[in-house]
Amino acid sequence: MKSKNLFWFITALWIGFGIFPLTLIVLKLGHSQEIHARVLSLFLLILVVLAIVIIAICRYVYKDAKSRGMDPYLWMATAAYVPNFVGLIVYLVMRKQFSMGILKCTNCSMEIKRDWKYCPNCSHRLQERN
Ligand SMILES: [Zn+2]
Repeated sequence: MKSKNLFWFITALWIGFGIFPLTLIVLKLGHSQEIHARVLSLFLLILVVLAIVIIAICRYVYKDAKSRGMDPYLWMATAAYVPNFVGLIVYLVMRKQFSMGILKCTNCSMEIKRDWKYCPNCSHRLQERN
């Protein structure tokens, strides 16, 4: 399976078997036991905040991984879906090793050296890395 498909597969699993049934259960509890509306809105608020955090992590990791020549979807799935931010920490640790090793031109994916200013293959200006 391609890592892009894997990412969307996990996302679908999360929504299908996690968020969706949980929302149904909470809505049903709210009906049958007359839980205060505040509990329901708190639950929905947590869901929305969680979604925003996950989307923010995905956006950051996607850009960052791509610029380092790492597989953006694979790392997005790791960072967003391994619980308790363990995946994100793994990514932050791993990316350092990646940037110490092979670097690739963001334009043509040719292997480049860290201190090169321009890609010898396509003359793309390489960003400075510290
Ligand atoms: Zn290039």
